[in-house]
Amino acid sequence: MNIILLGTGVAIPQLEKAQSGILVKTPEELVLFDCGAGILGRIVQSGYDYLKIHKTFFTHHHLDHNSDFLALLKAQQLAAMDSDVPVQKMNVFGPAGTQRHVAQLLDLYNYLTVEVAVTELEDGDNIRVGNGVVSVRATKHSVPSIAYRMQTPTSTLVYSGDTEPTESVRDLCHGDVDVLIHECSFPDSYASVSNHTTPAKLRDLIFDLQIDRIVLTHLYPHASGQEDAMVDVIKERFPGRVDVAYDLMKINL
Ligand SMILES: [Zn+2]
Repeated sequence: MNIILLGTGVAIPQLEKAQSGILVKTPEELVLFDCGAGILGRIVQSGYDYLKIHKTFFTHHHLDHNSDFLALLKAQQLAAMDSDVPVQKMNVFGPAGTQRHVAQLLDLYNYLTVEVAVTELEDGDNIRVGNGVVSVRATKHSVPSIAYRMQTPTSTLVYSGDTEPTESVRDLCHGDVDVLIHECSFPDSYASVSNHTTPAKLRDLIFDLQIDRIVLTHLYPHASGQEDAMVDVIKERFPGRVDVAYDLMKINL
């Protein structure tokens, strides 16, 4: 699979960072994980075609993870009007509450005509996507939230969404994992923060797992200038590669 970190930021604006979004290209299709503010533009910058995205997986419904979703639908609708090619259905997946959330948004913006099918996911669910499987575990955030493992015949990605370090993400990293994209919102000087992750806690959760590479994303401005130190904290016990994500970072597996 080919992974592009479209947006690596948070709800507080930061130069050069859109909010949260990851695009995964498998041999069969494009899959979007989260779609915060700025992601639609980043899709265009990535060179991939926003008209070919028909599956969107939400980790949770905070604005920095979903606020460009309607913009994506609108763009697909307009482009379809221009091309005579009917826009395909958008399949949306997310935690409990996703059905109501999407229905209310579409009710407010009733000129959006793209068909949307919502599947709410629960802890332990596994759903087939192309030749792969997306596995779901509940995480620890201030609203219902889930993490995903996407496994294809040749590669495995785990994406934490927003969460405190939690055993469920560790469980998703069973066996060999090519890349774990994990939020690392704050440096360890904010270790008392809830709902989010700091480097030492993440390190102690996953250091002994068979993960080739960890990519830290969703860093708040509070972490600015401390990125290298945060990486070093994880490397104290984790022997694999550790990087801090940046917008439009590509990972080819
Ligand atoms: Zn967030």
